[in-house]
Amino acid sequence: MEYRRTQLEALSRFMEEKKCEILQALNADLRRPAFEGELDEIGLVMNEVNTALNNLEYWMADEHVNKNLAMTFDSAFIRKDPYGVVLIISPFNYPFYLTLVPLVGAIAAGNCVIVKPSELSRCSEKLMAEVLPKYFDPDTFAVVTGGHETTTKLLENKFDYIEYAGSNTVGKMVMTAAAKHLTPLTLELGGKNPCYVDSCCDFQNAANRIVWGKSYNAGQACTAPDYVICTADTQDRLIPCLRQAIRCFYGCNPQESPDFGRMINDEHFRRVRALLDCGQVAIGGETDESDRYIAPTVLVNVKEWEPIMQQEVFGPVLPIFTVAGLDEAIQYINSKDRPLAAYAFSCDHQVVNRVLACTSSGGFCGNDCLMQAFLVSLPHGGIGCSGFGKINGRFSFDTFTHQRGCLTRCMGLEALNSVRYPPYTERKLQMLKFGTDVRRWNPCTLL
Ligand code: NAD
Repeated sequence: MEYRRTQLEALSRFMEEKKCEILQALNADLRRPAFEGELDEIGLVMNEVNTALNNLEYWMADEHVNKNLAMTFDSAFIRKDPYGVVLIISPFNYPFYLTLVPLVGAIAAGNCVIVKPSELSRCSEKLMAEVLPKYFDPDTFAVVTGGHETTTKLLENKFDYIEYAGSNTVGKMVMTAAAKHLTPLTLELGGKNPCYVDSCCDFQNAANRIVWGKSYNAGQACTAPDYVICTADTQDRLIPCLRQAIRCFYGCNPQESPDFGRMINDEHFRRVRALLDCGQVAIGGETDESDRYIAPTVLVNVKEWEPIMQQEVFGPVLPIFTVAGLDEAIQYINSKDRPLAAYAFSCDHQVVNRVLACTSSGGFCGNDCLMQAFLVSLPHGGIGCSGFGKINGRFSFDTFTHQRGCLTRCMGLEALNSVRYPPYTERKLQMLKFGTDVRRWNPCTLL
């Protein structure tokens, strides 16, 4: 425990001492405003470190479990064993957060860790590769840099656990590589996060929160609302409020705002710009290739078969898909792959609860976007095509821990054990069953 603590303290020192360098790297890679970087890439990582340090003793402790009559004198418990050597592969969009949050869990659980940050967020990768190892024990921590060729080579090795966050396509390759060694893994993938907006709504509040969620890190967030789904009437009422929110947040020309980020590279810029050909531009639509700038944009009249409704947007472009009502919205959401997050806005709690109850997604937030990811006490992870396994706080610790079921017995009391030895008799069986059977609880017996 002391060793794990020193490593976690070292990470905390890295975050404190290199805060300026981290914020500069994020700005150089994604033009991320320092405000955003401090809030999630530094703040949320520190929350993870502090949560782990506060709870480490409790998380690591053996967990004693219920016993049956036959094992009354024994000790039955779950031992929290580390897996061994963990590989963490992270994407470009939150380079520190998505590398260091799982790292906290992996260290807290007692593993050796190799991290492979994204080569696309170059400055963040460089900082992690050059500076982070100086803070950790080199016997238990290493950073590997490079693109898909390096990662493919790295994955030929046998790891004890792999945590991967990134696209679904690469996720399948990672899972295939892991299967060769039967390595357990967690996949944190992407998807299209629906955002239902009800006719009973405070439209300006909903618009503020949706615009914030879609524009945060220029829409390059796995939990960003991917598309709005609502009726045509609701769309008409929502659009002026979305316009108002964009103007309020970023001024008349968002390109001049220091609070609005950029696409990570030319390839992603061109991919998102191509999506502007879908439907019709209702707000924004301006682009500047030399600056990798895409304005906060709202598209209307998009069709289900158009690319914007087929692929994850991962940029500041918000399509509005219209339906006849709540039932059709739920039907549409359920006809697609299960997303990482689902959002519902309504003043009527029953509507929010209906979307929650009738759909399936990795996480959910009613009347806001993204905010569920800011709580260290909530698990973060997908379901179906958006991935499997959970990170954040206790969930990260559990992810990187092998729960070893243990029973220790005393050498004596052989008379009690003899009922299970041959020669078998009906009486022995009845005694053994009495001592080991799990009986159904009958609520009436409590009365
Ligand atoms: P990506 O899949 O291109 O890259 C992720 C990592 O995989 C990088 O480190 C990269 O070097 C490596 N990689 C790339 N090609 C590889 C290959 N052929 N073999 C092995 N490794 C390879 O993802 P990205 O573009 O960096 O990130 C965006 C995607 O990640 C989006 O789909 C987003 O939704 C998803 N994402 C998911 C989460 C989550 O928590 N669920 C978080 C952030 C991003």
